[in-house]
Amino acid sequence: MPLGLIIDGYVDEPACFGVPPYISPYVRYCAGVFMSHGFEVIYLTVDQIRQEKADHLIRSAEVTVVIAGLTVPGRYRGGSPMTLKELKGLSEIPRRGAMIVGGPIGSGYALKGGDAALDVSKILDVDCIATGDPEAVLDLWIRTKEMTHDAKRDYGTLAKWAEAGAQVVKMHPMYPLIIAELELSRGCDRTDGRCSFCVEGLKAREERSPDSVAAEVRCLAIAGVKAFRFGRCANVLTYGGTLTPKGWMPSPDGLRSLYSSVRSAAPDIKVLHMDNGNPKTIATFPDKSFEALKVIASYNTPGDTISLGLESLHPQVVLQNNLKVFFDQALEAVRIVNLAGGTRPFQNSMPSLLPGLNFLIGLPGENKETINENRRFLEKLLSEGLSVRRINIRRPMTFKSTPLGAVDSSAMKGIRDRDYKAFKDWVRSEVDPVMFSRVAPEGTIIRDVICEERLGNLIFGRPLGSYPPLLGITSSTLKEGDTTDVTVTGAGPRSLSGIPWPLDINNCSQQELQGIPGIGKARAMRLILNRPIAGLEQFKAVLDDPGLADKVAKFFSFPSDEGAI
Ligand code: SF4
Repeated sequence: MPLGLIIDGYVDEPACFGVPPYISPYVRYCAGVFMSHGFEVIYLTVDQIRQEKADHLIRSAEVTVVIAGLTVPGRYRGGSPMTLKELKGLSEIPRRGAMIVGGPIGSGYALKGGDAALDVSKILDVDCIATGDPEAVLDLWIRTKEMTHDAKRDYGTLAKWAEAGAQVVKMHPMYPLIIAELELSRGCDRTDGRCSFCVEGLKAREERSPDSVAAEVRCLAIAGVKAFRFGRCANVLTYGGTLTPKGWMPSPDGLRSLYSSVRSAAPDIKVLHMDNGNPKTIATFPDKSFEALKVIASYNTPGDTISLGLESLHPQVVLQNNLKVFFDQALEAVRIVNLAGGTRPFQNSMPSLLPGLNFLIGLPGENKETINENRRFLEKLLSEGLSVRRINIRRPMTFKSTPLGAVDSSAMKGIRDRDYKAFKDWVRSEVDPVMFSRVAPEGTIIRDVICEERLGNLIFGRPLGSYPPLLGITSSTLKEGDTTDVTVTGAGPRSLSGIPWPLDINNCSQQELQGIPGIGKARAMRLILNRPIAGLEQFKAVLDDPGLADKVAKFFSFPSDEGAI
């Protein structure tokens, strides 16, 4: 049986994410192509081959596919994307078969924002750099032995690869604690031009049917995946929508059909989240958008985020880069999402659906003064009591194929590193903690947090999901890799603090007790010395502070039921 090797160098694009625990559609679809042609498939991540070289596999594979590239680089906790040096090293390993490189790297390479993307075709010693769909390039090569770098597939062809390739998730080093990024559509639904920086906007708009998405979800669920995100889609709100003279209008029925099909295909789903929504759609069609958001909020799981690409709100920058919305439209969009999705579906859960905001600092026309408009916008959200799930601030990368690629680089020098950093620092110190405390106030329960790293008395972890919050959990017993429910006890600039939920009053540690606001060393010791504590009344008596006891009882489980939530 011929060997098909897939090396996942991770991807990050505006409309597709594939850094662990996410697994991108690219690698699954390529696996599906290999499987449908009778290949044995080996899937490795770049982090795995950093630990143990895969040279012998590259030498013997009939075809090696490397998926890599970032178009919106950020910082990642789940893995480190493949560098160009690493990719070049792989391409130079002697091999008997072919090597195809695909993913966003087909448009160029840069590891950090603010840089121009490099054309890698002269740097890599590979048989093909796919500028089309890597799975289509791979399929064509297997069938005809011809490399067609811009080969594309349609959704009819994709279905069988998507379903067959679902099996590859079992080879992911984090399996089963992974989240499958799902493709709903490609290209951009804007009818009034494209944003200057965007490569997604260069693709023709195409939409996948609910049946096709659900069929893939069913296969992924059978393979053991329980977390999903509609990430590969520029604007989830207009999925199944209608084209009108004012642009694509949301269809609540279209979304209902999609979400209900997916729910039926994976009844044991634990996470169903989305990613991108165009704020202009919400501002242009407020009523339909409200209905559409309500539909999403009725089928998704708590903690979901709709990422609104604001980029910059100064009118000069908006006009110069053909961005989506001005200040007032963005504000209206945030208000509507809060109204439709801001409620908590279960007692003490995270809200159903809140906005995430994306800023892109340093586009042509931006300078120290224009950034202040973004600051004014965030101050407005704070003063109106609106909630935002997370604020993403990055610098643009320039790709030759976009309008930005044709702009003189001096036009992007209006922002110095220190202006960018000052804005970012202000958001992290003044805005994030307030938003954290609105979104996940003390007592919020966050389910299925996966413990990642221990630092002293704290173990840090995150749940699976869209932009999951980082939690510093006070616990001496949890280990890396454990999964636990957590009650939030406070918020810092970058993370939430919490304790495992519920705490067994008679078995929890002194540290865990002291992790609860209001319980210091003396009270913790008193509780421990008075064990066993049978129920709430005894707990109150031992604590000797009825007000505090009522406030903190929600953190505990008692042998009797009276104090348990
Ligand atoms: S709306 Fe702008 S950022 Fe979004 S896909 Fe279209 S061009 Fe790209």
